[in-house]
Amino acid sequence: MIKAKKSLGQNFLIDKNILEKITNITNIKNKTILEIGPGTGNLTSYILYKNPKKLIVIEKDFSLAKKLEEDFKFRDNINVINDDILRIDENELCKDKLTVFGNLPYNISTEILSKWIISFKDHFWFDLLVLMFQKEVADRIIAEFNTSNYGRLSIISNWKLNIKKIFDIKPASFSPQPKIDSTLLCFYPKNNFIKIKNPKNLEKITRIFFNQRRKMLKKPYNQLFNGNEKVLKKLNINLNLRPQNLNCETYYKLVSEYENLVS
Ligand code: SAH
Repeated sequence: MIKAKKSLGQNFLIDKNILEKITNITNIKNKTILEIGPGTGNLTSYILYKNPKKLIVIEKDFSLAKKLEEDFKFRDNINVINDDILRIDENELCKDKLTVFGNLPYNISTEILSKWIISFKDHFWFDLLVLMFQKEVADRIIAEFNTSNYGRLSIISNWKLNIKKIFDIKPASFSPQPKIDSTLLCFYPKNNFIKIKNPKNLEKITRIFFNQRRKMLKKPYNQLFNGNEKVLKKLNINLNLRPQNLNCETYYKLVSEYENLVS
């Protein structure tokens, strides 16, 4: 019997119906799949059943990684890596575009997503991300502007990715049961997105604007743009509005204008 480690966010998905549904979201046959945090290998088995060309799994927990090696030793298309996903350079994993599945530890799920959005250059190393989040976090990721959940996470996540909500998952589908609901999201690379030279500027600008989300745009705008009127006119921004009233596109354009001004 495996004792789940709380420190590694171990809540194993045991609901067969959900596992089946997750592996039916996209075509797996003959594709190269990356699974992060495979745990006891529940989703791993369902993925293998669909005959991927190759399955790479990355598990931080040494004893679980060892157990996965043992359980799947008769399969030649699986590669178990015992490492921390946050320390991996995904571009080095494989030449094929990867389809990624992850029932991630909740505490690092947004960190991983930000890492992937901010770090990838012009080349997408994946064609699809299927990721599980704590429901409240997922709600912030997919929030539309003019709503209270809208903020930095929505803006950063939507920059290069189209996001689709698949479904919510109740605590009873996991063992041990988490205290919160979960949501499964899919992320697809966008063909076109507004060019930003340094993605850190997107983090910076959204941080400054959303630092005081109830205040008008005036103060953060003037701080960043020195009261520049041209940019305001060009982007049609009313400084009496609040940060949540500007849509994502406007933020990307603001970053791009900011980069033009400071370079
Ligand atoms: N996907 C499995 C397990 C989910 S629990 C299932 O659905 O049943 C989350 C898993 O992520 C655990 O196995 C945990 O050990 C692993 N994990 C936690 N932090 C990690 C990290 N930084 N890198 C890789 N795996 C990690």
